[in-house]
Amino acid sequence: MQSLWDFPDFDDHEAVHFVTDRASGLRAIIAIHSTHLGPAGGGTRMWHYADPAQGVADVLRLSRGMSYKNAMAGLAMGGGKAVVLAGPDRAKSPELIAAFGRAVDRLGGAYVTAEDVGMSVDDMVAISKQTRFVAGLPVAQGAVGGDPGPHTSYGVYLGVRAAARRALGKDSLAGLHIAIQGAGSVAGGLARLAARDGARITVADIDGARAQRLADEVGGAVVAPEAIMTTQADILSPNALGAILTAESIAALQAPVVAGGANNQLAVPADGDRLQARGILYAPDYVINAGGIINVSTEYLKDGDEAEVRRRIERIPARLEEIWAESEASGRNPAAVADAMAQRLIGRA
Ligand code: NAD
Repeated sequence: MQSLWDFPDFDDHEAVHFVTDRASGLRAIIAIHSTHLGPAGGGTRMWHYADPAQGVADVLRLSRGMSYKNAMAGLAMGGGKAVVLAGPDRAKSPELIAAFGRAVDRLGGAYVTAEDVGMSVDDMVAISKQTRFVAGLPVAQGAVGGDPGPHTSYGVYLGVRAAARRALGKDSLAGLHIAIQGAGSVAGGLARLAARDGARITVADIDGARAQRLADEVGGAVVAPEAIMTTQADILSPNALGAILTAESIAALQAPVVAGGANNQLAVPADGDRLQARGILYAPDYVINAGGIINVSTEYLKDGDEAEVRRRIERIPARLEEIWAESEASGRNPAAVADAMAQRLIGRA
């Protein structure tokens, strides 16, 4: 049996808490990768894993990712993540959510939770009855908080513009063709902003009706989900799934830029080298998609208003420029450069 410390993603986590609550059936893992820059912030995912070890691997990978993302966004937050193990005998219940909230509270603020896959705003409200170490709560109009999606979209849009400037020498998206994978919250916001600038949009979603609605709204076209990765375009923007950039898919790409909001786009680190070898400019996912966490962090730390959130998101292009410049100077791919920068920022160079 493999020891936890030998998990490939363990990466010197400060703490990993295994939580059980017999009364509610709760089983959860709360991983705290780093508190070097502040409380470990990262959402809670509720998911059914065939094997709990997959849940452990997932929480470790996601938690380290939050450390890197928060550091690169310049936030006073460390990185953490929680996974609640779902299953046929472990459905979500008010008791289970309350027990999870108490578990977060016992950590005394070292970990701050928010929504992720399988967790809703309502769940965060329920958790907030047990602990104050929670963000992503509904807010009144004009206050900082609420749905992070539009903020993520705005950051992705600015990042796409930065990539167009660097790779294509274009100061505007006008006339550029953007192929967007996904037609959900992040993709929709990006498509609207880019279309307003005069970009041509092609979109794909496994929910065909959703893709069609978005295309109609922005005057774009729809292609089948399996066609989007090989659509000839100026920019490919993945905004649906992770691990979509593989040896095979990279070899078939028909766009000189990949810049989108989906988490964990590279299947393995070597895919960063593969993109570089093909001369494709890549915007590291956790840097370009930080708009949502910037909003969540500002809500939780109460260290800024809406205008400040916008200003912080508007620093994403400069961070990307810094990464691309260092990549060009060092010959290392942008994803590897971003990881090294993040490690320096959390004191682990
Ligand atoms: P969403 O659920 O609103 O949209 C995702 C869309 O992707 C859905 O419409 C779904 O049908 C579609 N999809 C799933 N599989 C697909 C496939 N194989 N091909 C094409 N489309 C497919 O989610 P979202 O909030 O827009 O998030 C999109 C991505 O961005 C995710 O990877 C998420 O982790 C990441 N992200 C989101 C935020 C945020 O603030 N919402 C922040 C950072 C990162």
